[in-house]
Amino acid sequence: MVLERATAPLHGAVLPEPTPAPGQLLVRVHACGVCRTDLHILDGELPHPKLPLVLGHQIVGTVVGEERRVGIPWLGWADGECRFCRSGRENLCDRARFTGYDLDGGYAEYTVVDERFCFALPEDYSDLEAAPLLCAGLIGYRSLRIAGNAERVGLYGFGSSAHIVAQVARHEGRRVFVFTRPGDDEGQAFARELGADWTGGSDEAPPEELDAAIIFAPVGGLVPTALRALAKGGTVVCAGIHMTDIPAFPYELLWGERVLRSVANLTRSDGEEFLALAPQVPVRTSVEAFPLEQANEGLERLRRGEVRGTAVLDVATS
Ligand SMILES: [Zn+2]
Ligand SMILES: [Zn+2]
Repeated sequence: MVLERATAPLHGAVLPEPTPAPGQLLVRVHACGVCRTDLHILDGELPHPKLPLVLGHQIVGTVVGEERRVGIPWLGWADGECRFCRSGRENLCDRARFTGYDLDGGYAEYTVVDERFCFALPEDYSDLEAAPLLCAGLIGYRSLRIAGNAERVGLYGFGSSAHIVAQVARHEGRRVFVFTRPGDDEGQAFARELGADWTGGSDEAPPEELDAAIIFAPVGGLVPTALRALAKGGTVVCAGIHMTDIPAFPYELLWGERVLRSVANLTRSDGEEFLALAPQVPVRTSVEAFPLEQANEGLERLRRGEVRGTAVLDVATS
């Protein structure tokens, strides 16, 4: 399924089977998770994607000619030599290339990957169940780590990433406060099933102060809202790659050593840590499967907030 230009729906096309360069693996795709980032690329909200482009950066597949199952994440390549890479921050690499953005991704039957940038996957997960771990899980995990030792964690937006983070946070003995779109009773019930201690609309104040808040919804107006819910010394983490403008807010919302920051991309060590932790929790992913040809439908359901958990393209059976 190919993106020819921003804002046009993806269309089915027959592409030549990709040829792996030295150091790359040819991978038969079994499943690929749909991420909100894919929607931002589709909508032209992120600059300079490769075009035409195959989207998709939560790829589960097997290496052609081997039985080995691999997972392919958003970070597809980093140079290993810039000041960020040399200080353990390859997620910020100046020359990083991202899967399904700079490189063709997993909305396809085959893809190639640099063998240094793919992961082994825990065996307890089916292909469909494993796909959401690769971005929703990873970015959520990195966001939670950056939130520090917060005991009371707020999650704004309860989609693909938050439904995983909530489970990890509970496993770590934290309390979880989930904010959904006002009136999203289904989303709030889903959050309580996964262990949320409190749920409400994003227009509601939590019953007590939060030590951290992670914003998954791409809505800049939630930044002052989340800061207002925070105890002194707390952190607001913006987990998305794109957000609408943040409205002006009074300095007193930041005062008291409150911290506002973003999370960008992932490092390979995030992936290794999280993929080792997920089966111990154990994280259970909730997926809604779509055949590859229905990628546009999966994207639109995500846009409308109708997916419970993660939309995943089931490529193997397409
Ligand atoms: Zn993603
Ligand atoms: Zn670098």
